[in-house]
Amino acid sequence: MTITRAMLETLDRDDPLAPFRDEFDLPPDVLYLDGNSLGVLPKAAKARMTRAVEQEWGRGLIRSWNDAGWIDLPSRVGGAIAGLIGAAPDEVIVADSTSVNIFKLAAAALRLQPGRRIILSEPGNFPTDLYMLQGLAEFLGGAVEVRTAAPADIPAALTDDVALLLLTQVHYKTGRMHDMADLTARAHAVGALTLWDLSHSAGALDVDLNAAGADFAVGCGYKYLNGGPGAPAFLFVARRHQGAATQPLSGWMGHAAPFDFDDRYRPADGIRRHLCGTPPVLALSVLEEGVAIMARADMGRIREKSCRLGDLFIALVEQMCGDSFGFISPREADRRGSHVSLSHSDGYAIMQALIARGVIGDFRAPDALRFGFTPLYLRHVDLWDAVAHLADIMRTGEYRQDRFQTKAAVT
Ligand SMILES: *Cc1c(COP(=O)(O)O)cnc(C)c1O
Repeated sequence: MTITRAMLETLDRDDPLAPFRDEFDLPPDVLYLDGNSLGVLPKAAKARMTRAVEQEWGRGLIRSWNDAGWIDLPSRVGGAIAGLIGAAPDEVIVADSTSVNIFKLAAAALRLQPGRRIILSEPGNFPTDLYMLQGLAEFLGGAVEVRTAAPADIPAALTDDVALLLLTQVHYKTGRMHDMADLTARAHAVGALTLWDLSHSAGALDVDLNAAGADFAVGCGYKYLNGGPGAPAFLFVARRHQGAATQPLSGWMGHAAPFDFDDRYRPADGIRRHLCGTPPVLALSVLEEGVAIMARADMGRIREKSCRLGDLFIALVEQMCGDSFGFISPREADRRGSHVSLSHSDGYAIMQALIARGVIGDFRAPDALRFGFTPLYLRHVDLWDAVAHLADIMRTGEYRQDRFQTKAAVT
């Protein structure tokens, strides 16, 4: 069946999420298919940043730690994120970056698993996930080993010396989604714990950490949660581990009583012990607004629209671009997160040509053109218009121009 633009207009008219688009400050003349890398600016975030800077900081000064509730921001925003990922409010806190949280929670998991020396992940996982594990293993002087196994080989690689399985639920490049409940159960069957990276899941999928029995999780604030560039990250520790799990970055904000100024570190009860230093108040304030919008939408509806957008995008590329591209992502929506990657040997130049026309996706070496679908502010017709540009660029060969060939620092 041929898809028409009119069909997509009808889908937009009937879309229960359509009103959310107005809550975002979208630049005119841009079709933004990169909210999986950096979410757009919520209008409420702008107002909140102004208030946080001018009133809370400018006028309230240090009094705002109490009066404006700054000190509670990490647990308050964490509690709101918990509602999006199937966790209880006291199982999630916002702190540091995803990279740092991986280090903290992988170390915490190892401490719970004396005698086990393997951390298992997959080759081609997001680099920082592997790098942080490598750094941790090196720091521990060879006491642990990082091993990787391709997705199909993970069940067999789960042997009874595995301490921890660290996987990213939705792969950053391919969009392929792991079965979190199944792999968690397999890990538990051999006594291993699990740490799930939800960077491409939180705010995009109806994640249910507790239904899956997950032990630990981390994720990004600046992707689907629209927390702004460099927004702090979140971490999850299942309540059953909170008494025993301790992390090595034992900074004063994770102390049981930071303002007692004790010489001796004593971890806070519960999730707060996973804090390290002073929270980034301005960034947390903005993130709170991004998360609040998401919390008013229904994650089931978001997932449903995300799957439809991904299916439509694939169908439109086939309809308008012939066989110009390979498909890196799974065709079946239930095996995919909220982005689709195409392959082409001139992928970088093609993406630059698209961006020059105001269609923004991104490029992941060596050959992936990545397009993210953010159901709260993307319309079905946007996909039509984006793919029409892509088809035109391929037909005219516009991407071969010199100006599209030079790589920038950030792709
Ligand atoms: C984006 C992303 C990160 C980012 O980590 P930072 O510490 O915020 O730079 C980590 N892991 C995955 C899987 C990601 O997609």
